[in-house]
Amino acid sequence: MPEPGLEKPVSMETATPEQHVTMDEITALAKRRGFIFQSSEIYGGINGFYDYGPLGAVLKRNVKNAWWHDTVELRDDVVAFDSSIIMHPLTWKASGHIDAFHDRMVDCKTCKHRFRYDHLTDTSQCPDCGTKDSLTEPRNFNLMMRTSIGPAEDTASVAYLRPETAQGIFVNFKNVYQSARKRPPFGIAQIGKSFRNEITPGNFTFRIREFEQAELEYFVPDDGRDMDAFAEWVDRRKDWYASYGVRPERLRFYELTAQERPHYAKAGIDVEYYFPWGWGELESIAHRGTYDLDAHMRLSGKDLRFFDEASKAHYTPLLIESSAGMDRTTLTFLIDAYEREKSVDPNGKETERTVLRFHPAIAPVQVAVFSLARNKPDLVEKARGIEAALRVRHRTQYDEGNIGQLYRRQDEIGTPYCVTVDYESLDDNTVTVRERDSMRQERISADALARMFGERL
Ligand code: ATP
Repeated sequence: MPEPGLEKPVSMETATPEQHVTMDEITALAKRRGFIFQSSEIYGGINGFYDYGPLGAVLKRNVKNAWWHDTVELRDDVVAFDSSIIMHPLTWKASGHIDAFHDRMVDCKTCKHRFRYDHLTDTSQCPDCGTKDSLTEPRNFNLMMRTSIGPAEDTASVAYLRPETAQGIFVNFKNVYQSARKRPPFGIAQIGKSFRNEITPGNFTFRIREFEQAELEYFVPDDGRDMDAFAEWVDRRKDWYASYGVRPERLRFYELTAQERPHYAKAGIDVEYYFPWGWGELESIAHRGTYDLDAHMRLSGKDLRFFDEASKAHYTPLLIESSAGMDRTTLTFLIDAYEREKSVDPNGKETERTVLRFHPAIAPVQVAVFSLARNKPDLVEKARGIEAALRVRHRTQYDEGNIGQLYRRQDEIGTPYCVTVDYESLDDNTVTVRERDSMRQERISADALARMFGERL
C-alpha cells in the first residue's frame, strides 16, 4: 500500500516502444470473440466492473494457473492460502487502510467531472471542459468499499471488502507456519478478489473496482541475506513474464527510489507494461521489512513472531512481497499477443489477418479440429472423434464449414493449432495440421496427433 501523498513514479525513460494496437481494437475484439464484456451491460453497464466471457474466463484462469504453478507448485518453500474477503475491521486499522488508504480527488464546478488529483498535470483548468479555475480544492477519499454485517445497520456492523489479499496472510502467519511446519525462508501465496472504490476507473480492465490479485508473501530471517531473497524474486518474476513470451521491449522493472518508497520499505520494484496509453503498473515487488507483522502485533496484542527451535529465540521475519494484478496481467497478454498482418488465403489471395500470438499454455483453445463439410456424417464423426480424444489432455474446440473462415476465427482467438479432417482422411487416416504463427500446413497421420501435441503444447 502506498504511503499517503506518495504517488507513483513518473517515468524517466525516453525510449518508448512502438504502439501496435489501439484500445478500441482490443475492446472490440474482446467483445466480439467473448473475452471481456462490460458488467451489467443490459442495464447500461456499471463503471469499473467487467465480466469475462467464455474465452476470457479461460484465458484469465490460465494466467492465474501459470502464476500459481510457478510460484507455488514448483517450490517446496511456498504454501497455498485462501482467506476470506471480509475480515475483522481492525485488520484495516492495523494495516493503515482506514486512516491512510486515500486518493485525493477534485471536481470540476462547471462540468461536474471528477478527477484524481495526482493524475492531473495542470490543475489551473479542467482537463475535460477546459474552464479555468473551476476545480475544487483536493480532498481525501478512502478507497475501501464498505458493507455491513448482520441485520442492524449501525456502526458496529461496518465492515470492508478487502482492498488487497495480503492482510489475510499476515494475520494468519502463525497459524500457517505452525500447521505447515515451515520456517523462514518460506512463502505464503494466494490469489483472490480485491475491491477498491477507484475515483476514476478506466483503461478497460486496467483500473477497475473489483479485481483479482496474486500475492506472494515471502518471509526471511534477518540474517543479512534478505536483499538476495529480494533479488531472487525479482529475477523469478522476470523469467516468468519472459517464459510466457511478453515482449521484453514492452516490459520494464522500474526501481523505486528511497523517496518513492514507503519509509519502512528497503527496496521496491514496479513491473510495468507499455500499454496503448503508456506505461502502467502490473505488479509491485517490495521489501517491506517487519512492518506488516509489527502492525498486527501492536494492535492485536498477539505474538506473531517466529520461534526458532535451534536458537530457542523469537524473531519477526522480514517480508519480501510480490503483488500482481491478474486482470492487468490478462489484459497485458491480450494486448501483447495482438498482431495484424498481411497473409495469403487458401486461394492465393492477399488478405489481412488478426492474430493473437498467445503462448500455448495461455491460449484459451490449444487445438481446433474441423470437419471440411457440415453435412457429411462420416467426416463430422471422424473430426469429432479426434477432438474428443485430444480433449482429455488439451483445450480443444470442434468446428465445421469454410476452412478459410475457421482459420481466421481461430487466429483471432489465438489457437496455436488447427486440424482439418477432409475426404482424404477417410481413405488414409491423414489430417492437415496448420500452425498459427507460420501458417505452415503439414499432412500427418491422425494417430500421430496425440504425440505431436503432447510434445508441442
Ligand atoms: P495503482 O498505482 O495503479 O493504483 P497500486 O500501486 O495502488 O496501483 P498495489 O496496491 O501495489 O497497486 O496493488 C498491487 C497490484 O494490484 C497492482 O500492481 C495492480 O496490478 C493490481 N491493482 C491495484 N489496483 C487495481 C485496480 N484498481 N484495478 C486492477 N488492478 C489493480
